[in-house]
Amino acid sequence: PTMAHSKALLVLENFIGGRFVPCSSYIDSYNPSTGDVYCRVPDSGKEEVEAAVKAAKDAFPIWSSKSPLERSQILNKLADLIEHDLEAFAQAESKDQGKTITFARTVDIPRAVHNFRFFASSILHHVTECTEMPAMGCVHYTSRAPVGVAGLISPWNLPLYLLTWKIAPAIACGNTVIAKPSEMTSVTAWMMCKLLEKAGVPPGVVNVVFGTGARAGEALVCHPDVPLISFTGSTRTAQRITERSAPHCKRLSLELGGKNPAIIFDDADLSQCIPTTVRSSFANQGEICLCTSRIFVQREIYSEFLKRFVAEAKKWKTGNPSDPTIDVGALISKEHLEKVRTYVKKAQAEGARVLCGEGVDPLALPPGNQKGYFMLPTVIAEVKDESCCMQEEIFGPVTCVVPFDTEEEVIRRANGVKYGLAATVWSRNVGRVHRVAHRLQSGLVWTNCWLVRDLNLPFGGMKASGIGREGAKDSYEFFTEVKTITIKH
Ligand code: NAD
Repeated sequence: PTMAHSKALLVLENFIGGRFVPCSSYIDSYNPSTGDVYCRVPDSGKEEVEAAVKAAKDAFPIWSSKSPLERSQILNKLADLIEHDLEAFAQAESKDQGKTITFARTVDIPRAVHNFRFFASSILHHVTECTEMPAMGCVHYTSRAPVGVAGLISPWNLPLYLLTWKIAPAIACGNTVIAKPSEMTSVTAWMMCKLLEKAGVPPGVVNVVFGTGARAGEALVCHPDVPLISFTGSTRTAQRITERSAPHCKRLSLELGGKNPAIIFDDADLSQCIPTTVRSSFANQGEICLCTSRIFVQREIYSEFLKRFVAEAKKWKTGNPSDPTIDVGALISKEHLEKVRTYVKKAQAEGARVLCGEGVDPLALPPGNQKGYFMLPTVIAEVKDESCCMQEEIFGPVTCVVPFDTEEEVIRRANGVKYGLAATVWSRNVGRVHRVAHRLQSGLVWTNCWLVRDLNLPFGGMKASGIGREGAKDSYEFFTEVKTITIKH
Protein backbone atom coordinates (compact mmCIF):
# COMPACT_ATOMS: atom_id res chain seq x y z
CA PRO A 1 0.00 0.00 0.00
CA THR A 2 2.85 2.42 0.66
CA MET A 3 4.18 2.11 -2.89
CA ALA A 4 0.79 2.89 -4.39
CA HIS A 5 0.68 6.16 -2.48
CA SER A 6 4.35 6.94 -2.80
CA LYS A 7 3.74 10.07 -4.89
CA ALA A 8 1.85 11.75 -2.10
CA LEU A 9 4.35 10.79 0.57
CA LEU A 10 6.86 13.13 2.08
CA VAL A 11 10.31 11.60 1.57
CA LEU A 12 13.14 12.69 3.86
CA GLU A 13 16.84 12.62 3.05
CA ASN A 14 19.88 12.52 5.25
CA PHE A 15 21.81 15.75 5.67
CA ILE A 16 25.53 15.08 5.41
CA GLY A 17 28.33 17.57 4.78
CA GLY A 18 25.85 20.35 4.03
CA ARG A 19 23.94 18.39 1.38
CA PHE A 20 20.76 16.35 1.30
CA VAL A 21 21.57 12.81 0.25
CA PRO A 22 19.08 10.06 -0.55
CA CYS A 23 19.30 6.68 1.14
CA SER A 24 19.00 3.22 -0.41
CA SER A 25 16.15 2.13 1.87
CA TYR A 26 13.37 3.81 3.80
CA ILE A 27 11.06 3.30 6.79
CA ASP A 28 7.37 4.24 6.83
CA SER A 29 6.38 6.96 9.23
CA TYR A 30 2.77 7.28 10.42
CA ASN A 31 0.52 10.19 11.18
CA PRO A 32 -0.64 9.11 14.66
CA SER A 33 -3.91 11.02 14.43
CA THR A 34 -5.10 9.19 11.29
CA GLY A 35 -3.10 5.95 11.32
CA ASP A 36 -1.91 6.62 7.74
CA VAL A 37 1.63 6.34 6.43
CA TYR A 38 2.47 9.83 5.25
CA CYS A 39 6.25 10.03 5.27
CA ARG A 40 9.28 7.91 4.46
CA VAL A 41 12.38 8.17 6.57
CA PRO A 42 15.86 7.02 5.48
CA ASP A 43 16.79 3.68 7.03
CA SER A 44 20.44 4.62 7.50
CA GLY A 45 23.10 2.26 8.73
CA LYS A 46 26.88 2.05 9.00
CA GLU A 47 27.57 3.46 5.56
CA GLU A 48 25.58 6.66 6.09
CA VAL A 49 26.99 7.13 9.59
CA GLU A 50 30.51 6.67 8.18
CA ALA A 51 29.90 9.44 5.63
CA ALA A 52 28.50 11.71 8.33
CA VAL A 53 31.46 11.08 10.65
CA LYS A 54 33.84 11.95 7.83
CA ALA A 55 31.98 15.20 7.11
CA ALA A 56 31.89 16.09 10.82
CA LYS A 57 35.62 15.38 11.24
CA ASP A 58 36.46 17.48 8.19
CA ALA A 59 34.42 20.40 9.52
CA PHE A 60 35.85 20.26 13.04
CA PRO A 61 39.15 22.20 12.60
CA ILE A 62 37.47 25.28 11.16
CA TRP A 63 34.40 25.27 13.38
CA SER A 64 36.31 24.64 16.59
CA SER A 65 38.71 27.48 15.84
CA LYS A 66 35.95 30.06 15.41
CA SER A 67 35.47 32.42 18.34
CA PRO A 68 32.52 31.85 20.66
CA LEU A 69 31.11 35.15 19.38
CA GLU A 70 31.15 33.99 15.77
CA ARG A 71 29.42 30.75 16.69
CA SER A 72 26.97 32.66 18.86
CA GLN A 73 25.92 34.87 15.94
CA ILE A 74 25.26 31.81 13.77
CA LEU A 75 23.17 30.16 16.49
CA ASN A 76 21.12 33.33 16.88
CA LYS A 77 20.54 33.47 13.15
CA LEU A 78 19.34 29.87 13.16
CA ALA A 79 16.99 30.68 16.04
CA ASP A 80 15.53 33.57 14.04
CA LEU A 81 15.02 31.39 10.97
CA ILE A 82 13.19 28.68 12.91
CA GLU A 83 11.09 31.32 14.64
CA HIS A 84 10.21 32.84 11.29
CA ASP A 85 8.81 29.44 10.24
CA LEU A 86 7.33 28.65 13.65
CA GLU A 87 3.86 27.87 12.35
CA ALA A 88 5.14 25.45 9.68
CA PHE A 89 7.35 23.70 12.23
CA ALA A 90 4.46 23.46 14.70
CA GLN A 91 2.11 22.01 12.08
CA ALA A 92 4.75 19.46 11.09
CA GLU A 93 5.51 18.46 14.68
CA SER A 94 1.83 17.99 15.46
CA LYS A 95 1.22 15.88 12.36
CA ASP A 96 4.32 13.75 12.85
CA GLN A 97 4.02 13.19 16.59
CA GLY A 98 0.29 13.35 17.30
CA LYS A 99 0.67 16.19 19.82
CA THR A 100 -1.81 19.05 19.76
CA ILE A 101 -1.07 21.98 17.52
CA THR A 102 -1.43 24.20 20.58
CA PHE A 103 1.31 22.35 22.43
CA ALA A 104 3.61 22.39 19.40
CA ARG A 105 2.99 26.13 18.91
CA THR A 106 3.42 27.13 22.52
CA VAL A 107 5.96 24.63 23.85
CA ASP A 108 7.92 22.55 21.33
CA ILE A 109 8.93 25.04 18.68
CA PRO A 110 9.34 28.14 20.89
CA ARG A 111 11.59 26.06 23.13
CA ALA A 112 13.64 24.85 20.14
CA VAL A 113 14.15 28.50 19.17
CA HIS A 114 15.02 29.36 22.75
CA ASN A 115 17.54 26.50 22.99
CA PHE A 116 19.63 28.11 20.24
CA ARG A 117 19.28 31.62 21.70
CA PHE A 118 20.06 30.41 25.20
CA PHE A 119 23.31 28.66 24.26
CA ALA A 120 24.23 31.45 21.83
CA SER A 121 24.24 33.68 24.88
CA SER A 122 25.55 31.37 27.58
CA ILE A 123 28.63 30.39 25.54
CA LEU A 124 29.80 34.00 25.85
CA HIS A 125 29.75 34.01 29.63
CA HIS A 126 31.81 31.07 30.81
CA VAL A 127 34.95 31.68 32.79
CA THR A 128 37.53 29.04 33.54
CA GLU A 129 39.24 28.56 36.88
CA CYS A 130 42.53 29.88 38.15
CA THR A 131 44.39 29.33 41.44
CA GLU A 132 47.67 30.67 42.71
CA MET A 133 50.44 29.02 44.78
CA PRO A 134 52.71 31.95 45.63
CA ALA A 135 54.98 29.81 47.81
CA MET A 136 55.68 27.56 44.82
CA GLY A 137 55.78 30.44 42.35
CA CYS A 138 52.95 28.84 40.41
CA VAL A 139 49.60 29.72 38.91
CA HIS A 140 47.22 27.03 37.77
CA TYR A 141 44.42 27.57 35.31
CA THR A 142 42.00 25.44 33.39
CA SER A 143 41.30 25.63 29.70
CA ARG A 144 38.37 24.05 27.91
CA ALA A 145 38.28 22.86 24.31
CA PRO A 146 35.60 21.18 22.21
CA VAL A 147 35.86 17.39 22.24
CA GLY A 148 35.31 16.56 18.57
CA VAL A 149 32.44 14.80 16.83
CA ALA A 150 29.40 14.40 19.08
CA GLY A 151 26.68 11.78 18.56
CA LEU A 152 23.25 13.08 19.58
CA ILE A 153 20.35 10.64 19.91
CA SER A 154 16.86 11.83 20.79
CA PRO A 155 13.39 10.36 21.41
CA TRP A 156 9.97 10.92 19.83
CA ASN A 157 8.07 12.77 22.52
CA LEU A 158 9.49 16.30 22.12
CA PRO A 159 11.30 15.86 18.82
CA LEU A 160 12.81 19.21 17.82
CA TYR A 161 12.80 20.52 21.41
CA LEU A 162 15.05 17.74 22.72
CA LEU A 163 17.26 17.47 19.65
CA THR A 164 18.07 21.20 19.67
CA TRP A 165 18.69 21.03 23.44
CA LYS A 166 21.69 18.90 22.43
CA ILE A 167 22.69 20.43 19.07
CA ALA A 168 22.80 23.99 20.44
CA PRO A 169 25.29 23.44 23.30
CA ALA A 170 27.34 20.95 21.27
CA ILE A 171 28.00 23.32 18.39
CA ALA A 172 28.15 26.43 20.60
CA CYS A 173 31.13 24.78 22.31
CA GLY A 174 32.78 24.17 18.93
CA ASN A 175 32.03 20.49 18.38
CA THR A 176 30.60 19.15 15.16
CA VAL A 177 27.66 16.78 15.43
CA ILE A 178 25.79 13.85 14.03
CA ALA A 179 22.19 13.90 15.17
CA LYS A 180 19.93 10.87 15.03
CA PRO A 181 16.33 11.78 15.78
CA SER A 182 13.72 9.11 16.52
CA GLU A 183 12.68 7.24 13.39
CA MET A 184 9.09 7.98 14.39
CA THR A 185 9.49 11.77 14.48
CA SER A 186 12.11 12.91 12.00
CA VAL A 187 10.37 15.63 10.00
CA THR A 188 11.18 18.77 11.97
CA ALA A 189 14.88 17.86 12.18
CA TRP A 190 14.87 17.55 8.39
CA MET A 191 13.13 20.94 8.10
CA MET A 192 15.78 22.49 10.34
CA CYS A 193 18.52 21.16 8.03
CA LYS A 194 17.05 23.28 5.23
CA LEU A 195 17.84 26.42 7.28
CA LEU A 196 21.41 25.63 8.27
CA GLU A 197 23.16 27.06 5.23
CA LYS A 198 21.20 30.30 5.39
CA ALA A 199 22.04 30.63 9.08
CA GLY A 200 25.73 30.34 8.21
CA VAL A 201 26.35 26.91 9.73
CA PRO A 202 29.28 25.58 7.66
CA PRO A 203 28.81 22.23 5.87
CA GLY A 204 29.58 19.25 8.10
CA VAL A 205 29.01 21.05 11.41
CA VAL A 206 25.49 19.64 11.79
CA ASN A 207 24.81 16.32 10.10
CA VAL A 208 21.54 14.48 10.50
CA VAL A 209 21.33 10.77 9.87
CA PHE A 210 17.81 9.34 10.00
CA GLY A 211 16.95 5.77 10.86
CA THR A 212 16.30 3.24 13.58
CA GLY A 213 18.13 2.87 16.85
CA ALA A 214 19.24 -0.64 16.01
CA ARG A 215 20.96 0.39 12.76
CA ALA A 216 21.74 4.12 12.60
CA GLY A 217 21.85 4.63 16.38
CA GLU A 218 24.17 1.71 17.06
CA ALA A 219 26.45 2.62 14.17
CA LEU A 220 26.92 6.02 15.79
CA VAL A 221 27.38 4.58 19.28
CA CYS A 222 29.97 2.08 18.02
CA HIS A 223 31.91 4.46 15.80
CA PRO A 224 35.46 4.89 17.13
CA ASP A 225 35.68 8.52 15.96
CA VAL A 226 32.63 9.70 17.92
CA PRO A 227 34.02 10.17 21.45
CA LEU A 228 30.84 11.45 23.08
CA ILE A 229 27.22 10.44 22.98
CA SER A 230 24.40 12.52 24.37
CA PHE A 231 21.29 10.39 24.61
CA THR A 232 17.73 11.04 25.69
CA GLY A 233 15.38 8.08 25.70
CA SER A 234 14.49 4.98 27.64
CA THR A 235 16.53 3.36 30.39
CA ARG A 236 16.65 0.10 28.47
CA THR A 237 18.21 1.74 25.39
CA ALA A 238 20.67 3.57 27.65
CA GLN A 239 21.84 0.23 29.05
CA ARG A 240 22.43 -1.00 25.52
CA ILE A 241 24.29 2.19 24.57
CA THR A 242 26.46 1.90 27.67
CA GLU A 243 27.39 -1.68 26.74
CA ARG A 244 28.05 -0.94 23.09
CA SER A 245 30.16 2.15 23.77
CA ALA A 246 32.15 0.59 26.62
CA PRO A 247 34.99 -0.73 24.42
CA HIS A 248 35.69 2.88 23.39
CA CYS A 249 35.30 4.40 26.90
CA LYS A 250 32.99 7.06 25.48
CA ARG A 251 31.75 10.04 27.38
CA LEU A 252 28.01 9.52 27.91
CA SER A 253 25.20 11.80 28.96
CA LEU A 254 22.02 9.81 29.58
CA GLU A 255 18.61 11.45 30.13
CA LEU A 256 16.17 8.64 30.78
CA GLY A 257 12.72 7.73 31.98
CA GLY A 258 10.83 8.68 35.11
CA LYS A 259 8.07 7.52 37.42
CA ASN A 260 7.48 10.90 38.91
CA PRO A 261 5.59 11.39 42.16
CA ALA A 262 3.43 14.33 43.18
CA ILE A 263 3.14 14.62 46.95
CA ILE A 264 0.13 16.57 48.09
CA PHE A 265 -0.10 17.55 51.76
CA ASP A 266 -3.37 18.49 53.42
CA ASP A 267 -2.44 22.20 53.52
CA ALA A 268 -1.90 22.40 49.75
CA ASP A 269 -3.67 25.12 47.81
CA LEU A 270 -5.92 22.80 45.83
CA SER A 271 -7.12 25.54 43.50
CA GLN A 272 -3.55 25.67 42.14
CA CYS A 273 -2.58 22.09 42.78
CA ILE A 274 -5.43 20.34 40.96
CA PRO A 275 -5.21 22.01 37.54
CA THR A 276 -1.41 21.85 37.66
CA THR A 277 -1.39 18.17 38.60
CA VAL A 278 -3.89 17.36 35.84
CA ARG A 279 -1.56 19.17 33.46
CA SER A 280 1.54 17.43 34.84
CA SER A 281 -0.21 14.09 34.34
CA PHE A 282 -1.68 14.59 30.89
CA ALA A 283 0.28 17.28 29.03
CA ASN A 284 1.50 16.01 25.66
CA GLN A 285 -0.65 12.86 26.22
CA GLY A 286 1.46 12.06 29.28
CA GLU A 287 4.39 11.55 26.93
CA ILE A 288 6.88 13.76 28.77
CA CYS A 289 9.62 12.24 30.88
CA LEU A 290 8.66 14.75 33.61
CA CYS A 291 4.97 13.84 33.71
CA THR A 292 3.45 12.91 37.04
CA SER A 293 2.21 9.34 37.24
CA ARG A 294 2.00 8.65 40.99
CA ILE A 295 -0.04 11.07 43.05
CA PHE A 296 0.22 10.69 46.82
CA VAL A 297 -2.51 12.62 48.63
CA GLN A 298 -2.68 13.06 52.40
CA ARG A 299 -5.63 11.11 53.74
CA GLU A 300 -7.49 14.10 55.22
CA ILE A 301 -8.05 15.56 51.75
CA TYR A 302 -7.94 12.35 49.70
CA SER A 303 -11.60 12.01 48.81
CA GLU A 304 -12.09 15.71 48.10
CA PHE A 305 -8.95 15.71 45.97
CA LEU A 306 -10.05 12.66 43.98
CA LYS A 307 -13.46 14.14 43.25
CA ARG A 308 -12.08 17.48 42.08
CA PHE A 309 -9.13 15.91 40.22
CA VAL A 310 -11.37 13.58 38.20
CA ALA A 311 -13.78 16.42 37.39
CA GLU A 312 -10.83 18.51 36.13
CA ALA A 313 -9.34 15.61 34.12
CA LYS A 314 -12.70 15.10 32.41
CA LYS A 315 -12.54 18.66 31.10
CA TRP A 316 -9.57 17.74 28.93
CA LYS A 317 -10.82 17.22 25.40
CA THR A 318 -9.32 14.41 23.34
CA GLY A 319 -9.43 14.56 19.55
CA ASN A 320 -7.97 15.89 16.32
CA PRO A 321 -4.62 17.45 17.30
CA SER A 322 -4.89 20.14 14.63
CA ASP A 323 -8.02 21.51 16.30
CA PRO A 324 -6.79 24.31 18.60
CA THR A 325 -9.51 23.58 21.19
CA ILE A 326 -8.19 20.04 21.78
CA ASP A 327 -6.10 19.27 24.87
CA VAL A 328 -5.10 15.64 24.25
CA GLY A 329 -3.84 14.49 20.87
CA ALA A 330 -2.86 11.05 19.63
CA LEU A 331 -0.28 8.74 21.17
CA ILE A 332 2.83 8.09 19.13
CA SER A 333 2.02 4.66 17.70
CA LYS A 334 -0.45 1.82 17.65
CA GLU A 335 2.00 -0.36 19.62
CA HIS A 336 2.49 2.32 22.23
CA LEU A 337 -1.27 2.82 22.61
CA GLU A 338 -1.69 -0.93 23.15
CA LYS A 339 1.07 -0.94 25.74
CA VAL A 340 -0.50 1.95 27.66
CA ARG A 341 -3.94 0.28 27.55
CA THR A 342 -2.43 -2.95 28.87
CA TYR A 343 -1.32 -1.12 32.02
CA VAL A 344 -4.89 0.04 32.67
CA LYS A 345 -6.19 -3.51 32.20
CA LYS A 346 -3.55 -4.88 34.58
CA ALA A 347 -4.49 -2.33 37.22
CA GLN A 348 -8.14 -3.33 36.92
CA ALA A 349 -7.26 -7.01 37.16
CA GLU A 350 -5.39 -6.23 40.39
CA GLY A 351 -8.49 -4.62 41.88
CA ALA A 352 -7.72 -0.95 41.26
CA ARG A 353 -10.54 1.46 40.32
CA VAL A 354 -10.46 3.32 37.03
CA LEU A 355 -12.27 6.58 37.81
CA CYS A 356 -12.34 8.09 34.36
CA GLY A 357 -10.98 7.59 30.87
CA GLU A 358 -9.96 4.31 29.27
CA GLY A 359 -12.74 1.71 29.32
CA VAL A 360 -14.98 3.94 31.47
CA ASP A 361 -15.96 6.92 29.34
CA PRO A 362 -16.89 6.99 25.66
CA LEU A 363 -14.30 8.38 23.25
CA ALA A 364 -15.95 10.21 20.36
CA LEU A 365 -13.61 10.98 17.47
CA PRO A 366 -14.17 12.88 14.22
CA PRO A 367 -14.55 10.64 11.12
CA GLY A 368 -11.01 11.37 9.91
CA ASN A 369 -9.47 10.28 13.20
CA GLN A 370 -11.20 6.95 13.75
CA LYS A 371 -7.98 5.05 13.08
CA GLY A 372 -5.81 7.37 15.14
CA TYR A 373 -4.09 6.28 18.36
CA PHE A 374 -6.24 8.11 20.90
CA MET A 375 -6.88 7.52 24.55
CA LEU A 376 -8.75 9.54 27.15
CA PRO A 377 -6.96 10.90 30.23
CA THR A 378 -7.25 8.05 32.71
CA VAL A 379 -7.21 8.26 36.49
CA ILE A 380 -6.71 5.12 38.57
CA ALA A 381 -7.18 4.86 42.33
CA GLU A 382 -6.45 2.18 44.91
CA VAL A 383 -3.36 0.91 43.15
CA LYS A 384 -0.83 -0.98 45.26
CA ASP A 385 2.68 0.47 45.43
CA GLU A 386 4.14 -2.78 44.09
CA SER A 387 1.81 -2.82 41.04
CA CYS A 388 3.52 -2.36 37.67
CA CYS A 389 1.36 0.76 37.22
CA MET A 390 3.11 2.33 40.22
CA GLN A 391 6.60 1.00 39.36
CA GLU A 392 7.04 1.20 35.59
CA GLU A 393 7.05 4.18 33.30
CA ILE A 394 3.77 4.07 31.33
CA PHE A 395 4.45 7.22 29.27
CA GLY A 396 0.82 7.82 28.38
CA PRO A 397 -2.24 9.67 29.72
CA VAL A 398 -2.54 7.51 32.84
CA THR A 399 -2.03 8.62 36.41
CA CYS A 400 -2.48 6.78 39.72
CA VAL A 401 -3.80 8.42 42.90
CA VAL A 402 -3.19 6.89 46.34
CA PRO A 403 -3.57 8.13 49.93
CA PHE A 404 -0.80 8.54 52.54
CA ASP A 405 -0.68 9.47 56.22
CA THR A 406 2.73 10.79 57.29
CA GLU A 407 5.64 12.71 55.82
CA GLU A 408 8.06 9.91 56.67
CA GLU A 409 5.87 7.33 54.97
CA VAL A 410 5.34 9.32 51.78
CA ILE A 411 9.06 10.01 51.32
CA ARG A 412 9.79 6.31 51.58
CA ARG A 413 7.02 5.40 49.13
CA ALA A 414 7.90 8.18 46.66
CA ASN A 415 11.50 6.95 46.66
CA GLY A 416 10.41 3.31 46.28
CA VAL A 417 10.89 3.02 42.52
CA LYS A 418 13.95 2.52 40.37
CA TYR A 419 13.63 5.98 38.78
CA GLY A 420 14.57 9.41 40.13
CA LEU A 421 13.84 12.15 37.61
CA ALA A 422 11.30 14.70 38.83
CA ALA A 423 8.97 15.16 41.79
CA THR A 424 6.42 17.75 42.80
CA VAL A 425 5.55 18.67 46.37
CA TRP A 426 2.44 20.65 47.33
CA SER A 427 2.30 22.32 50.73
CA ARG A 428 2.20 25.83 52.18
CA ASN A 429 4.56 24.83 54.98
CA VAL A 430 8.00 26.13 53.99
CA GLY A 431 9.93 23.96 56.44
CA ARG A 432 8.19 20.82 55.26
CA VAL A 433 8.72 21.66 51.61
CA HIS A 434 12.48 22.01 52.15
CA ARG A 435 12.71 18.86 54.27
CA VAL A 436 10.85 16.73 51.77
CA ALA A 437 12.67 18.18 48.75
CA HIS A 438 16.04 17.35 50.30
CA ARG A 439 15.09 13.75 50.99
CA LEU A 440 13.50 12.89 47.65
CA GLN A 441 15.69 10.85 45.31
CA SER A 442 15.01 13.00 42.32
CA GLY A 443 17.09 15.19 40.02
CA LEU A 444 14.40 17.88 40.01
CA VAL A 445 11.89 18.83 42.69
CA TRP A 446 9.17 21.37 41.97
CA THR A 447 7.20 22.69 44.89
CA ASN A 448 3.77 24.25 44.30
CA CYS A 449 4.40 24.27 40.54
CA TRP A 450 5.48 22.01 37.68
CA LEU A 451 7.81 22.33 34.70
CA VAL A 452 9.08 25.78 35.56
CA ARG A 453 12.57 25.61 34.10
CA ASP A 454 15.62 27.82 34.30
CA LEU A 455 17.92 26.44 31.61
CA ASN A 456 20.92 27.76 33.54
CA LEU A 457 20.49 25.09 36.19
CA PRO A 458 21.19 21.35 35.99
CA PHE A 459 18.56 19.13 34.40
CA GLY A 460 18.66 15.36 34.70
CA GLY A 461 17.85 12.36 36.80
CA MET A 462 19.34 10.06 39.40
CA LYS A 463 19.08 6.25 39.74
CA ALA A 464 17.66 4.68 36.56
CA SER A 465 16.67 8.14 35.28
CA GLY A 466 20.11 8.95 34.04
CA ILE A 467 23.73 9.88 34.32
CA GLY A 468 24.93 13.45 33.95
CA ARG A 469 23.11 16.74 33.76
CA GLU A 470 22.31 19.25 31.03
CA GLY A 471 22.12 23.04 31.44
CA ALA A 472 24.27 26.12 30.88
CA LYS A 473 27.26 24.96 32.92
CA ASP A 474 26.60 21.21 32.75
CA SER A 475 26.26 21.05 28.97
CA TYR A 476 29.36 23.24 28.62
CA GLU A 477 31.29 20.82 30.79
CA PHE A 478 29.97 17.78 28.94
CA PHE A 479 30.71 19.14 25.49
CA THR A 480 34.22 20.37 26.33
CA GLU A 481 37.40 18.68 27.49
CA VAL A 482 39.10 20.40 30.41
CA LYS A 483 42.81 20.70 30.91
CA THR A 484 44.69 21.99 33.97
CA ILE A 485 47.80 23.99 33.12
CA THR A 486 50.43 25.00 35.68
CA ILE A 487 52.85 27.86 35.04
CA LYS A 488 55.88 28.41 37.24
CA HIS A 489 57.54 31.77 37.05
P1 NAD B 1 14.02 4.91 23.01
O1 NAD B 1 15.07 4.62 24.02
O2 NAD B 1 13.27 3.79 22.43
O3 NAD B 1 14.62 5.70 21.78
C1 NAD B 1 15.34 6.92 21.92
C2 NAD B 1 16.27 7.09 20.75
O4 NAD B 1 17.27 6.07 20.82
C3 NAD B 1 15.62 6.96 19.39
O5 NAD B 1 16.22 7.86 18.50
C4 NAD B 1 15.98 5.53 19.01
O6 NAD B 1 15.99 5.31 17.62
C5 NAD B 1 17.36 5.38 19.59
N1 NAD B 1 17.80 4.03 19.86
C6 NAD B 1 17.04 2.93 20.12
N2 NAD B 1 17.83 1.85 20.28
C7 NAD B 1 19.11 2.26 20.13
C8 NAD B 1 20.37 1.60 20.18
N3 NAD B 1 20.47 0.31 20.44
N4 NAD B 1 21.48 2.34 19.97
C9 NAD B 1 21.40 3.66 19.74
N5 NAD B 1 20.23 4.33 19.67
C10 NAD B 1 19.10 3.64 19.86
O7 NAD B 1 13.05 5.96 23.69
P2 NAD B 1 11.71 6.55 23.08
O8 NAD B 1 10.67 5.50 23.20
O9 NAD B 1 11.99 7.20 21.78
O10 NAD B 1 11.41 7.74 24.10
C11 NAD B 1 10.71 7.60 25.27
C12 NAD B 1 11.65 7.51 26.45
O11 NAD B 1 12.48 8.65 26.52
C13 NAD B 1 10.91 7.47 27.76
O12 NAD B 1 11.51 6.51 28.59
C14 NAD B 1 11.13 8.86 28.33
O13 NAD B 1 11.03 8.98 29.71
C15 NAD B 1 12.50 9.16 27.86
N6 NAD B 1 12.72 10.61 27.88
C16 NAD B 1 13.60 11.13 28.79
C17 NAD B 1 13.82 12.51 28.84
C18 NAD B 1 14.77 13.13 29.82
O14 NAD B 1 15.18 14.26 29.59
N7 NAD B 1 15.16 12.46 30.90
C19 NAD B 1 13.14 13.34 27.95
C20 NAD B 1 12.25 12.77 27.06
C21 NAD B 1 12.06 11.41 27.01
